[in-house]
Amino acid sequence: MILVSPIGNVDEWLVEEVVDFVGDYYYRFSMKVKRGPAVPLRPFLKAYNPYRNQYLGRIFLPTLSLMGKRLKARAVLGVMDVDLYEEGLNFIFGLANPSLKAAVVSIYRLRPEFYGERPNEGLLMERAIKEAMHELGHVFGLEHCLNVRCVMHFSNSIYDTDLKTPFYCFSCEEKLRRNLEVKG
Ligand SMILES: [Zn+2]
Ligand SMILES: [Zn+2]
Repeated sequence: MILVSPIGNVDEWLVEEVVDFVGDYYYRFSMKVKRGPAVPLRPFLKAYNPYRNQYLGRIFLPTLSLMGKRLKARAVLGVMDVDLYEEGLNFIFGLANPSLKAAVVSIYRLRPEFYGERPNEGLLMERAIKEAMHELGHVFGLEHCLNVRCVMHFSNSIYDTDLKTPFYCFSCEEKLRRNLEVKG
């Protein structure tokens, strides 16, 4: 089972779209997606860096990991709407830790408005789905892929995200299949 949980205030329709897409895809691996309860942002204030006005992504993963363990989930994905960063990077769209079986994505930088463009719910939804599929791929042991159309391609910017498809390429999908079989 894959658990998807919002952290803080996130558009509910967007979380539903992510849950639907991920659920349809992972169904072929006989995995179901469960919608988890929203996690409050307040306990994570230590992740907030006032100098950068951003949140340190990795702080969220252990808590998600515990939520997942309780439900015997094979992966937990937190969905947020705050600006995330990691040391050495100006920002991140999301991050994952395979040993914690946990990942987060943020929609903060996925909105067209962030880039001075007109709001576009369809585009926002596509981007959120791609980032969710990418981070879940990491949780299941996939690494970055050189194929620019593969969802495991690294997104340096939103243009990379827009160029890739929401799917794993053939070789990433084969690897995913093996990883999911081995780990039963
Ligand atoms: Zn990645
Ligand atoms: Zn690939």
